[in-house]
Amino acid sequence: MRKNIVAGNWKMNKNLQEGLDLVKELQSAVFGKTLKCDVVVCTPFVHLASVSGLIDKNKVKLGAQNCADKVSGAYTGEVSAEMLASTGAQYVILGHSERRAYYGETSVTLSEKVKLALANKLTPIFCIGEVLAEREAGKQNTVVKTQIEEALFDLSADDFGKIVLAYEPVWAIGTGKTATSAQAQEIHAHIRQTVAAKYGQTVADNTSILYGGSCNAGNAKELFANPDVDGGLIGGAALKLDTFMPIVEAF
Ligand code: PEP
Repeated sequence: MRKNIVAGNWKMNKNLQEGLDLVKELQSAVFGKTLKCDVVVCTPFVHLASVSGLIDKNKVKLGAQNCADKVSGAYTGEVSAEMLASTGAQYVILGHSERRAYYGETSVTLSEKVKLALANKLTPIFCIGEVLAEREAGKQNTVVKTQIEEALFDLSADDFGKIVLAYEPVWAIGTGKTATSAQAQEIHAHIRQTVAAKYGQTVADNTSILYGGSCNAGNAKELFANPDVDGGLIGGAALKLDTFMPIVEAF
């Protein structure tokens, strides 16, 4: 069956020392606890190897926030999926709305990134979600379906089964506005149904679908109580132990 996951997305926050301090705190906080979810920290690239050396990966798992859409070679400034895997990273966030909006990521490049991540045994946390105007026009279901179809539906069922999805309404990211629990459940169920229609109910039932967008200690319990919400992708609240741990413990 599918896993519950709480993944922190640090974005472009924390220098190396600050990042290591937070990871040490997190590691101590989860030590000896029986958690009902996997805990993942998605750090900036330059922190990955150091964080990897510090964590017990049975307790805290490691992810990156992006990877290149090319295998290797003359692509100055890029970081390949193979390089990420070589640091000990296990996950990679792909298709975050900030990357789509600020760095022009499209379904075409994302499809390449997903395949390279999978080829290197990284689990993609693939982000989908509508902007406010699309939600106001009632187009959210079509938008997320298209995002999944375009970037992921050329995968085999076996490969699709290795992916984690994160529904992140763009209007809720970093804004303090959260989708209501009912809105989250409704669209997560739609996403699962979209997967089932293509790959069958078993693959759909085994796919973890995380919610992201101003998730915090106050709303995580209610969001995670929904049958189709399997955890969270957490931005701002992942930057401090005392705002992240209550979310981890919300299951
Ligand atoms: C995110 O960027 O993935 C996110 C969910 O951010 P926040 O929790 O800050 O809204």
